Amino acid sequence: MRLLLIEDEIEMARALSVVLVQQHYVVDHMSTVEDAREAIKSRVHDAIILDRHLPDGDGLAFLREMRGAGNTTPVIVLTARNAPTDRVLGLNDGADDYLGKPFLTDELVARLRAIVRRSDHHESRTITEGNIVLDLEHKEARIGDTLINLPRREMLVLEMLMRRSGRTVLRRALEEAVYGYDDEIQSNALDSHVSRLRKKLADSGADVEIHSIRGLGYLFKAS
Ligand code: CA
Repeated sequence: MRLLLIEDEIEMARALSVVLVQQHYVVDHMSTVEDAREAIKSRVHDAIILDRHLPDGDGLAFLREMRGAGNTTPVIVLTARNAPTDRVLGLNDGADDYLGKPFLTDELVARLRAIVRRSDHHESRTITEGNIVLDLEHKEARIGDTLINLPRREMLVLEMLMRRSGRTVLRRALEEAVYGYDDEIQSNALDSHVSRLRKKLADSGADVEIHSIRGLGYLFKAS
């Protein structure tokens, strides 16, 4: 799942990113309203964490603008101001939830899960292809009762391939699903993730295949 984190306090953003990445989210971090505006145009996010006080504007004004343009991505607003009137303002402006600083990162993660679960973006919490069941909420892949142990990026690759089973998935689309804006992508990294994933699936007895489509990407098929 992909998150947009809009927060200008660099230390705070860095610490949050670390926790969110551990929770298997892909994080795009932006520090200004201007960059956030570009980010929502170029990528689809499952949820947005929005700081109120940004160097070039008020997070709530950005939220109103987004909602006005029909963007329904769930948003959780962060702010040092946590007076009840501020919360009401934020919720009226289209926030799905509101969290006052300082907060526990565990609470943020729990609230994020809740707003994503409530949103229309993820109506189904599991994907099944062949004998593989992918539990999107708990980030687990299983065959029967056996858990397939996959690190974050292999899990993201598997999710993308399963969502588009039977169709060629372009390398670029996979890279976008797996890496945040600021991540450096080595040219063969994606192939390494795919080949490790392929081996683990085969070793676990998965009845699926991941075909390489030369020059294009990959094709996932239940066999
Ligand atoms: Ca701020």
